[in-house]
Amino acid sequence: MSERTFSIIKPDAVRKGYTGAILAEIEKGGFQICAIKKLSISKKQAEGFYAVHSARPFFSSLTDFMSSGPIVMMVLEKGNAIADLRKLMGATNPANAEEGTIRKQFAGSIEENAIHGSDAPETAAFEIGYWFAGYELV
Ligand code: GDP
Repeated sequence: MSERTFSIIKPDAVRKGYTGAILAEIEKGGFQICAIKKLSISKKQAEGFYAVHSARPFFSSLTDFMSSGPIVMMVLEKGNAIADLRKLMGATNPANAEEGTIRKQFAGSIEENAIHGSDAPETAAFEIGYWFAGYELV
């Protein structure tokens, strides 16, 4: 059964010119792009998006980083999309990411790690609804 997940190409990867290469990995991975947009977000918007991490010591630094420049956000669809995108992304810390994963290839550090992907069906639903209106999903 087909499933939707939410993803962001983070500001570090957009700045370094990796947008196209990361989109190619996503399409090679068998994902359909249901919606895509490039935008800059405010720190407040980033705080709302990452609210589950508000108690973490890196919350302020993370929300500064996510609002530091343009990002590309997407809704992606395929069977097992949530787990398969996490596999394609690799570990949070690129130093621990498997060879061939997006973070191994394109991430610079545990914070500036190139890509976000939802971690569960409930978070995917929240994240898609936070950034996209229903009519934008094709
Ligand atoms: P993810 O699901 O792999 O993205 O990882 P998490 O949900 O645990 O963390 C969300 C984001 O916070 C990560 O993608 C990183 O950008 C950042 N992050 C996670 N752990 C750390 C950390 O220990 N230090 C810093 N500075 N940032 C972190």
